[in-house]
Amino acid sequence: MSEQTLDNAYLRLIEIGKALSAERNLDSLLKHILQEAKSLASADAGTIYLASDKTHLKFAIVLLGSQKGAPSPNRVPKPMHLPDIPLYNEDGSPNLNNICSSVAHRGETITVGDAVRTESLGFSGPKTFSKLLEYPTTSLLTVPLKTMSDESLGVLQLLNATDSEGNFVPFPEDIIPLIEALASQASVAMENRALLDEQKAQKQQLEQEVDLRTEELKDTLAKLSEAHTILKEMNTIDALTGIRNRRYFDENLEQEWRRAKRQGYEISMLLLDIDNFKRVNDTYGHLVGDQCLAAIAKEVDRAFNRPSDVVARYGGEEFVVVLPYVSTHNALFLAEKLRKVIEKATYSADGYELKVTVSIGVATALPDDEVRPRDLISWSDRVLYEAKLAGRNQVRQHRQ
Ligand code: GH3
Ligand code: MG
Ligand code: MG
Repeated sequence: MSEQTLDNAYLRLIEIGKALSAERNLDSLLKHILQEAKSLASADAGTIYLASDKTHLKFAIVLLGSQKGAPSPNRVPKPMHLPDIPLYNEDGSPNLNNICSSVAHRGETITVGDAVRTESLGFSGPKTFSKLLEYPTTSLLTVPLKTMSDESLGVLQLLNATDSEGNFVPFPEDIIPLIEALASQASVAMENRALLDEQKAQKQQLEQEVDLRTEELKDTLAKLSEAHTILKEMNTIDALTGIRNRRYFDENLEQEWRRAKRQGYEISMLLLDIDNFKRVNDTYGHLVGDQCLAAIAKEVDRAFNRPSDVVARYGGEEFVVVLPYVSTHNALFLAEKLRKVIEKATYSADGYELKVTVSIGVATALPDDEVRPRDLISWSDRVLYEAKLAGRNQVRQHRQ
């Protein structure tokens, strides 16, 4: 090689180094390395093996020339794949029978000028290569790819140096340092690529973990919110009767009152007390009393179906019904209807057939600044008391 050509080649090497570090993934990087090495050394073919698992040299890429030995277009090309090369023998000693493995272990370049002689050198590589790809090998240049700390990354192998007439010739001596320099640049690029890939993989894994955690958190929050809703709902139900409890009634009445005040509609209230209920307990026992109480609660609940109607247990054997949009006249009618239903009904509890009656106090208000929810309650309560005094099993209405 002339001095001029050599100078140009070194300048080219610097360019190659820059270009290699710009490669985006390992496959394209390896292909680029091999193409540059082939062209620098005028080689007809080349391969790269990677020492990725430390026990084998894994085949990474092969580039075959288009000259002698290339598969004819009529023949189906064999898959461009070469077997991995074990780095160690079965007894654990380094595998020095194979050129590539030997180069990887020793970290030094091996050149073979006449592959026919390689068998006598004790190497099996070119034979395998020739057979597998049906590609006759004459000359070989095998250089190590290694890290800064001398760890093997793999090997770069060039085949069949070609002279200007296209004949396969041995690799010239002065090309060896050039290819070694290229191999060292390639190694740095590969190491950097691997580091970048690792960082990318770590970042992706981290992002996946964060996504997973976020999903789990969302799931937990959804379950918590569901549990919260159920708990909240449970807190509004009276355990014995299954209808709304006093707390719900209090909160709902406040809300309903504000709305009615804004929108200007009436609210009616029924306060209902079971007559002589003490007698039921005294006669049949508390358990029967409980069952009877629950049955009447359900009866009252069933009687009011509009979404805005609220039936709640006010206390002991007293129930309260809040009826928005219901006028004085209709409230009295509904109370009387309910009283009659209960009077007619028979409630079975623990094998007994019970008949009960109720007294009902009814009041209606148009919420404004003068009238409060507690006024409506006390009016209902007062007329309920009147109904009791008047002999029970009757409805009394508050008149403003
Ligand atoms: P009145 O017609 O005047 O209302 O007579 P009453 O016996 O119903 O009234 P009183 O206030 O004297 O007694 C109410 C009774 O209701 C007393 C109590 O034992 C019973 N009671 C209240 N809550 C429950 C309950 O949860 N279960 C049972 N079994 N009885 C209850
Ligand atoms: Mg009572
Ligand atoms: Mg009572």
